[in-house]
Amino acid sequence: MLKLGGKIIRIHAVDVHKDLTLVKVSTSRNLPEVLRRQMAYLVSDHQIPQGFAHYLLLEKHRQLVDMLPSDADYSVLPNDYSYIGDNDVVRLSADRQRIRVLFRASSPHNSILITEQCNHYCLMCSQPPKVADDSWILDEVESLIPLIPKDTRELGFTGGEPTTNRERFLKIISLTKSYLPRTTIHILSNGRSFKDPAFTDKYAEIKLPDAMIGIPIYSDDPTLHDYIVQAQGAFDETIQGILNLKRLGQKVEIRVVIHKLSVQRLPELCEFIARNLLFVDHVALMGLEMMGFTRANLDELWVDPIEYKDTLSKSVGILAKYDMNISVYNHQLCLVNPDIHPYYRKSISDWKNEYAPECQSCTKKSDCGGFFASGVKFGYSKHLAPF
Ligand code: SF4
Repeated sequence: MLKLGGKIIRIHAVDVHKDLTLVKVSTSRNLPEVLRRQMAYLVSDHQIPQGFAHYLLLEKHRQLVDMLPSDADYSVLPNDYSYIGDNDVVRLSADRQRIRVLFRASSPHNSILITEQCNHYCLMCSQPPKVADDSWILDEVESLIPLIPKDTRELGFTGGEPTTNRERFLKIISLTKSYLPRTTIHILSNGRSFKDPAFTDKYAEIKLPDAMIGIPIYSDDPTLHDYIVQAQGAFDETIQGILNLKRLGQKVEIRVVIHKLSVQRLPELCEFIARNLLFVDHVALMGLEMMGFTRANLDELWVDPIEYKDTLSKSVGILAKYDMNISVYNHQLCLVNPDIHPYYRKSISDWKNEYAPECQSCTKKSDCGGFFASGVKFGYSKHLAPF
């Protein structure tokens, strides 16, 4: 699992008041000086250009500190950050003691957290909501978007519930359209804000060129859905939100996390989706991530994928019969039936994707999506069957 944030080993700040909260990384020695003054140069050898706002060195290169310009601001990072590269964006904390990698230019899995606040309290939430004012995150996202390379192919927005502050959400979507018009945008939302036609109109009016909103539904039984998300009335509002979005021609994906509670009525849910929401653009049936509340509610949620493999086949079969666009995410290839293979996707973000020790000898490892790092650590099926 990639380390995305933590302590800096050594810091040298000539001017601690210099605004370096967010800084874009460069490995280019040929940047014009005007750009150097806003960027951090990643030092890897003796040829160190002058004039950058900051210099980043890995611990293994710390002897190069002596080669830096005499007035240089610099940070020495643990070797865990060896993956940092050109055009990445990092946050240096105000006291310059910590670093967080916010964007990795080489990754197709960049997901930007907009808020930790949410009006759901899902039993399996991997990012448990917080109530504290975190509007600083919105400020940061607004500063981050202009730094993201224009040729970025995909970008996700997540939370919490990204629409918690509706006006700021719309502002971020507008900024994204302005700075990243060629990027495919994926927004994870519980959909309830879109029950408000005026808000949905404003979102649609921005006209993001290529955007999809991923909205979870966990059961065709409203009571069970509301129980799983711990919010009364959520099912009705979510369905209304989906209808409003589709009425305005917006792309919507339905996401179903499969666990002991949702799998009970998975075929019925798929029938419900096919009969009532046939017009959505994608349906994703997803394995469970062992993070956040999932670990606290493990007895209530965990079911070995081998136990529901036939139910998964039946459910996908229902959606396929209606010619829906389907993906199966976050599953292990040896734990699904062959009829799932056409819909099987390697979906786990690169920074948290791992394989179990049993996978070492598997001849289909490169086709298999593997596990969340948390799954390898906290528990996975005892029925892995390496090919
Ligand atoms: S043994 Fe491991 S790599 Fe092979 S299919 Fe199963 S989970 Fe995937």
